[in-house]
Amino acid sequence: MNIILIGPPGAGKGTQSHFLEEKHGMIQLSTGDMLRTAIKHEEPVGLEAQSLMAAGKLVPDDLMVRMIEARIAKPDCARGFILDGFPRTVPQAEALDKMLVAQGKKLDAVIELKVDEAALIARVSGRFACANCGASYHDTYMPTTKPNVCDACGGKEFTRRPDDNAETMKARLEVFRIQTAPILPYYQAKGLLKVVDGMADMHDVTKAIEAVLNQTPA
Ligand code: AMP
Repeated sequence: MNIILIGPPGAGKGTQSHFLEEKHGMIQLSTGDMLRTAIKHEEPVGLEAQSLMAAGKLVPDDLMVRMIEARIAKPDCARGFILDGFPRTVPQAEALDKMLVAQGKKLDAVIELKVDEAALIARVSGRFACANCGASYHDTYMPTTKPNVCDACGGKEFTRRPDDNAETMKARLEVFRIQTAPILPYYQAKGLLKVVDGMADMHDVTKAIEAVLNQTPA
């Protein structure tokens, strides 16, 4: 199954994608993670994206479209993928439709994680991840079991995203409202949009997503 998770930053797209990856073997395709990897490796794409990301702005559509087009053509995507962070604009959604047709693939569902924006700033400013294995945590909602030790791999170093601060977060929320939210009616018109309460406990959110997937014809 090929799905899109849509929601503002901090809605839980990454967390839910990881659950779905583990349980259903689908592949998470996070354009934000791809860009952060490109920055780490000092690739040209990363250099172009870095300052835009730090300001909470979007990276140009053509660059993102090329990145995802190449990624979904890879053989591991044949077992199903979760798009996390793409598309973020209507032109990206239109380009996605074209590339799926060209690659003989289709979208099965577009799941919106509906959240209360006021709660997002608190959620996002507490996020951190293991520097070794990438497992994600939160100061308040999901701390490590032992202080400063990763539950998954025992790693002792952690990272925080530079764009997870209150000021950049406000810019990212505005970008979501203005540039990304218009893709919701785009998918509604195609009958693909399903809405899930993203404010519920994260396990209940997973159950709600699974219920949507179970009702979706493969
Ligand atoms: P994320 O990890 O999904 O929150 O993305 C982090 C940042 O990467 C965003 O704030 C944008 O600057 C950039 N980015 C990720 N995906 C896209 C996309 N599909 N289109 C444009 N910019 C993106």
